[in-house]
Amino acid sequence: MLARIKQFLGMEAKPEEVASKQEVEKVAEEEKTRPRIGYIHLSGCTGDVMSLTENYDILAELLTDMVEIVYGQTLADVWEMPEMDLALVEGSVCLQDEHSIHELMEVREKAGLVVAFGSCAATGCFTRYSRGGQQAQPSHESFVPIADLIKVDCAIPGCPPSPEIIAKTVVAVINGDMDYLQPMMDLVGYTEACGCDLQKKVVNQSLCIGCGTCAMACQTRAITMTNGRPEVNCDRCVKCGICYIQCPRSWWPAERINKDLGL
Ligand code: SF4
Ligand code: SF4
Repeated sequence: MLARIKQFLGMEAKPEEVASKQEVEKVAEEEKTRPRIGYIHLSGCTGDVMSLTENYDILAELLTDMVEIVYGQTLADVWEMPEMDLALVEGSVCLQDEHSIHELMEVREKAGLVVAFGSCAATGCFTRYSRGGQQAQPSHESFVPIADLIKVDCAIPGCPPSPEIIAKTVVAVINGDMDYLQPMMDLVGYTEACGCDLQKKVVNQSLCIGCGTCAMACQTRAITMTNGRPEVNCDRCVKCGICYIQCPRSWWPAERINKDLGL
């Protein structure tokens, strides 16, 4: 897009190729319509935004041509939170940290869409085990998913979410692809995640087909398959929720999957 603007301004074009004032204004208008995206870092490890940057093949285009990064401690040198179309919130929120709570409230006021970005924001993940008592803030003991405090529009759980799903979600937001976003909007209510969901909601309901997807998806190797059924080692479970989300018997958006596969 920058190249097109330069061309329209005559910076790289021959005089006869210079575009009209209307064309310049049209491109400038297009430029303005890039979604303004902010990244808000609460009690997270930065792994989710690292995963975003691992979209090596499309990252440059995504960050320069398709979106405008307007806020984010690790992505932009901006101190005041501006208005945003989309806010990616990483990390859970500490109830004893007034600054984090105010920041979260401000995000809700200033962002059109708020996304719980990664499992800490979406389900609390391993911050569910925080008990406080550590220096330099021993009183910081309670961490909750952001949907416990504000209305969240969309959740991308994962510890971290895969680079591909992050990129596809951002592109779906840009294109207004509600069909793609709907399952993530439905996941907003899934804040009490646990490996035991497999037993309670899949195995106990006679839904398990023994495919092993849950074991493959678990980042902490907490799941082993025993006699064709998942067995969760609770000592290793960090409550990210990915095993249940990835399980093909928890939900299966057949129409969308067929569309993506060209069927
Ligand atoms: S069993 Fe593994 S994938 Fe499932 S919630 Fe626990 S840590 Fe996450
Ligand atoms: S992913 Fe679901 S269906 Fe497959 S083994 Fe695990 S619980 Fe069973």
